[in-house]
Amino acid sequence: MGAEKPHPSVPANALAVESGSAMMPVVRMSVRIFEAAGSLNVESRALPRNPTRAVAIGSITIGCGHSIAVQSMTATHTQDIAATVGQIRDLVAAGADVIRVAVDSRKDADALAEISKEVEANLAVDLQENYRMAEVVAPYVAKIRYNPGHLYHHEREKPWQDKVRYLADIAGQHDCAMRVGVNCGSVDPDKKEKYDEHDSISPMLESAFDHCAFLDSLGFTRYAVSLKDSDPKNVIEVNKRFAAQRPDVPLHLGVTEAGMPPDGIIKTRIAFEQLISRGIGDTIRVSLTVPNSRKSEEIAAGHKILADIAAGRVRSVVDYGLQQLNIISCPSCSRVENEAFIDLAASVKEMTAYAKDHKITIAVMGCRVNGPGETDDADLGLWCGPNFVNLKKGPVELGAFPYDGILPKLKAELDAIIAIKTVK
Ligand code: SF4
Repeated sequence: MGAEKPHPSVPANALAVESGSAMMPVVRMSVRIFEAAGSLNVESRALPRNPTRAVAIGSITIGCGHSIAVQSMTATHTQDIAATVGQIRDLVAAGADVIRVAVDSRKDADALAEISKEVEANLAVDLQENYRMAEVVAPYVAKIRYNPGHLYHHEREKPWQDKVRYLADIAGQHDCAMRVGVNCGSVDPDKKEKYDEHDSISPMLESAFDHCAFLDSLGFTRYAVSLKDSDPKNVIEVNKRFAAQRPDVPLHLGVTEAGMPPDGIIKTRIAFEQLISRGIGDTIRVSLTVPNSRKSEEIAAGHKILADIAAGRVRSVVDYGLQQLNIISCPSCSRVENEAFIDLAASVKEMTAYAKDHKITIAVMGCRVNGPGETDDADLGLWCGPNFVNLKKGPVELGAFPYDGILPKLKAELDAIIAIKTVK
């Protein structure tokens, strides 16, 4: 490492619009498309972005309207320097902005020192319970992540505030950013005790708020927060609640133990769609269970999800906050049973252009597995089977129609909705 950190600044494509009482930057998503993501010619739309602080991580900056950074983590044995260097290079080639390396021992830290000399990458480490490892690894990385829940287990007699003060000092001395990484599986025991055992979200939030307030009181603001869970619904809820109270703190989004593709990608995608469309999230990681040779799929998946959200290709119904027609269609996958779905999505867009000034959401989904459940929140939902297209108005199913008969039916329903809205 050692590359000079750029001065965090507002990107040139940021605008500011009034949103409630706060000024929210609205940035046309600058989506970097990589061949590996298999997605070119993306039509991007303006998405809101929370007015987060700029946080420099090595050669990149997150927050304050900067592009959403995509991260991954090496899965090689860190002491296998050649393999770890090779994996870091693969991840960089796939478009990784930050790469975390596992360091669990002094020997791993020694290997990290060698690895950092051989790669041009923004490296990060995750401190485990021995938080004092920070001073050993900080010279070689751009970011240090600590888990508030883990700080309790080492030097138990020492208050967590003393440990965080030490970490902030080390990060400051070595020009590192920090991540306060709160995880549902390892929340501070003191916080957990205060809440109902079924409420996993409140202890996570309280822990994150306390650590943010303490870091702020130290004058250390170069940090991001992550609030991770294996259930995408919890990830959405906890991040929404955090961002409502601390819209200034950059968020690192992720779903833990998401599993293997495609299910792991789908789970993660749902959480990211609902958060990023609301302006929440400054950096992401898609955690996938894949062999080492395929680790770069995490990065490809991350870029693909961001590109799809910007283009309205979403798997859950997303309200982009538009005051006009919102047509969304799923990104398609192996579950599509009739390729005519792709043409149908385009035809729906074309046919409904006349309604562009009406705040109505139409969702077009590619399969019968997820279509019925995923379209409930749209005003009109379509999902495709082998020979028929199903139509739904809100949660009410209206029937199945042949591919060449669905558009007139859709138009009739759309006109009826417009008529009702116009009378109101
Ligand atoms: S709605 Fe069906 S076809 Fe579309 S991405 Fe989801 S699972 Fe795949």
